Order: sequence, then structure tokens, then C-alpha cells
Amino acid sequence: MDKLYFVVGSQDLYGDECLKQVAADAARMTAFFNEKFKGVCEVVLLPTVVNSETCIQDLRKVSCDDECIGVMTWMHTFSPAKMWIKGLQELRKPLLHLHTQANEKLPYDTIDMDFMNLNQAAHGDREYGFILARMRIPHQVVAGYYEHEDVIDGIRKFIDVARAINFSRHLKVASFGNNMREVAVTDGDRVESQIKYGWECNYFALGDLVDIINKVTEKEIDEKMAEYTSKYTMKTDRISSVREQARYEVALDKFLKDNGIGAFADTFQDLHGLKQLPGLAAQNLMGKGIGFGPEGDYKISAFSAVLMAMSKGRKGVTGFIEDYTYDLTPGKELELASHMLEVPVAFAATKPEIDVLPLGIGGKEDPARLIFDGAEGDGIQVTMVDMGDHFRIICADIELVKQPKPMPKLPVARIMYRHKPNFRIGTAGWCYAGGAHHSVVSTALTREDIALFAKLTGTELITIGDDTTEADLLKLGEC
Ligand code: MN
Repeated sequence: MDKLYFVVGSQDLYGDECLKQVAADAARMTAFFNEKFKGVCEVVLLPTVVNSETCIQDLRKVSCDDECIGVMTWMHTFSPAKMWIKGLQELRKPLLHLHTQANEKLPYDTIDMDFMNLNQAAHGDREYGFILARMRIPHQVVAGYYEHEDVIDGIRKFIDVARAINFSRHLKVASFGNNMREVAVTDGDRVESQIKYGWECNYFALGDLVDIINKVTEKEIDEKMAEYTSKYTMKTDRISSVREQARYEVALDKFLKDNGIGAFADTFQDLHGLKQLPGLAAQNLMGKGIGFGPEGDYKISAFSAVLMAMSKGRKGVTGFIEDYTYDLTPGKELELASHMLEVPVAFAATKPEIDVLPLGIGGKEDPARLIFDGAEGDGIQVTMVDMGDHFRIICADIELVKQPKPMPKLPVARIMYRHKPNFRIGTAGWCYAGGAHHSVVSTALTREDIALFAKLTGTELITIGDDTTEADLLKLGEC
């Protein structure tokens, strides 16, 4: 179970009685949080910080516990912030500053100096906020009475992003083949990716995967086929071609598990030893949270896995997609987004159909793939590009819509969406920002989540949405 540590600040100036009350309030709040976040994460209270030593011990514990996704801090009383400097220097986990109080209302009739000294987050949290700002520590502030729904919601959103960052720091990415020849935006600095996000990106020979594929048994393929037919409609009678994809998925699954890998990339320019481009296999794996990037795109493979981890437990869909083609009817502009084959099954609004059809590129046998219409609703489109000296995340608000007419001859899954604030500003903004043609689309995540991820990982963020103006486009054109 993921853990969120809770560290409460005070000092010994106010006497034992006060510290006992601080500890009791903190324990009561921890019990409340554990009730609220049941099944999401466990909130664990650490000893009250009363000096530099307890702070160092607490924040070392936070940093060294692999199950810990982050820490939430709150100053019950005044807690002089020089006591926090050395502890904060040891912190390597996402930080939430909860600006709250043990009491909701002011007890006007009974309030005295003891009460004021005990309950002075308005004072102590400002002192603490200063040291976080002074030390340039990225963090999130959630302000309000801790039992209020908006505060719980703010903490919950932090938990989702912190979980994704923890997942990211442990993520291993396999590339079969290198980046696809001549393609620029899919490439990137893998060393910097590991330093910044923790992704261990390594190359693996496709031949080694082919060896595993060749050892897959008929029984294993039967089991995978049973999974496919239980979830999807078999529209083809070319069963041996579908079994070929089942063979790939069984082998990929083994390879990923044996090597502790959570995301992979391949390229249709290097499919030596494979009869088909992995389509159905990749689609079904993405449905299980495995990151995937085509054309050697290790960034979108890793980033999609991270964003799927962020969206865990939320309503809505999240997955990799590629920008493809537009309907430019004035005022009703829409985008059709898809890929050659590998559209995540999570996007399916209709029961996916398995079919075997020509690919028209790559020179391999006709691959089996899942075909479906896409989900609807408000969402975001997010991508990450390497600007040479830093990574940039671009996040655009979009509205996923039902496709206006059937596309009986289009043999791939697809989604359609409307750009915000309109087609011209939305897409021009994306182009100015250098946004990739590979991205992640989500109806489960919001711009707020991506902004928090960007802040906590120190990544540049460009957003596009209803608040984007002509003036913003001019500025984007200059950066
Ligand atoms: Mn592509």
C-alpha cells in the first residue's frame, strides 16, 4: 500500500501540555484522513517536529521508504523554520504543505492566549512557507479546514500526482530498435530522462524477443485467445493471424515481467523475425497500464504509463494517441486521432472488434487489431518534447466527441476531438509550442494534474485552452 507521511511542526517553547495536544490533534486528523483515503493510500503520522534533529529523522524516513509516495506537512503551532532547513535538504519526495487548523471555528467566547499559542497555523505556516520559497523547494499548498471537501479533494489530487511520480521514479522502459529513422520529435535525451523522471531507458534486441515468441506454447496462446474472445468480438475468420498477436502478447508479457519493465517502444521499420506489426497485442497490453510508444518513441511510452498511473481509480480514459487528420468544416472543425494500429483499448466506447486487414505500410503480413469508436467527454491532450536544454510539457484542453458519421472503410480504432478555444488557436498554439504528433489523451486527468506534475518535477509547461488568446499565440511564437 502506498504511504503518505504526515509531519506536524511545533517547538518545545510552549511546554508539554501543548505538545501533547498537538500530538493528539495530529493523531485524530490522521485517523480522519485514513478514513477518507481508504483503498487509495495509508496516511502515517511521524513524530512532531520540535527541533532540527526530529525534522531530519522524519524527512529521512520519508525519503528512504520505497512505499512512501510523498509527505504532507502542517505547522500546528509556530515552528521556527531554521529547524526545518536540514531536514528539507534530505527530502526527495513530493511535498504537500497543508495549510489548515485543528479547529474549524474560532471559539469567540472562550479564546485566550493559550488557545492562540496552540492554534497558530496562520503564523507558523507562513514561517514555513517562507523557508520552502527561500530553498526553492517545489511543493503544493492546499489551504482550508482539513475536513472540508475541497481540501480533501486537493489532497487526493496531490496523492494521485505523487503516486505517478513515485511510479515514474521506478519505471523501466524497453526500446526494441532505436528511434525510427529521420523522425525528430520522438527522439530525446535518455540520460536526462532518467535524471529528471527516473526512467531507465534501455535498448533490447528484437531478436531476443523473437526467441521468447518462438517458445510460446499453443496452450499459452489458447489462454490468451480465451481472454480476447471474452472481452472482444471476433469479426474475422483469419484466426491464425489473431493467434499470432496472442503469441506476441504472451511473449511481451513474459519479457516485461522478467525484466521489471513497465513501458516499451517498437518501430515498424525493424520487425525482423515478426510476421506482423504488434497491433492487438500492444492494444491489449496498454489496457493493462503498460506504456507503449511506436516509432521508438520512448518518451510517450514512459509518459503514457506515468499518466495512466496518475489516473488510477478515477473515472474516464487515458492513453497514447497520434494526431492524424482534420475535418475543416468552418466552425465545426474536428480532429481524427488514431494510429496505424496501436490505439489503446481504454478509449473504446463500443465493444472492440478484432479484425485482420492490410496495413498498407511496413511490408509485413496483415495484422490483427482492435477496431472501435472512441470515448466522449471533456479531456486533455498532453505531450512531452525535448527542447535540447530542457523538457517541455504541452497540455491542451479538448472535447472528445462522437464521430459525426460512420467510417466503414477505416480499419483502425479512433477518437475524435474538438480543440479549445477553437481550431485555429488550439492547433496553432500546439504547433508554436513544438508539440509532438504523439501524445496522451485523457478524460480522467485535468490541466491542474499536469500542472502539478510539471511543478513537482521542475518541467516547463505550456497550456492551451479556453483562456488562450491571440496575444498568447504571439508570445508562444517567440519562445
Ligand atoms: Mn506514430
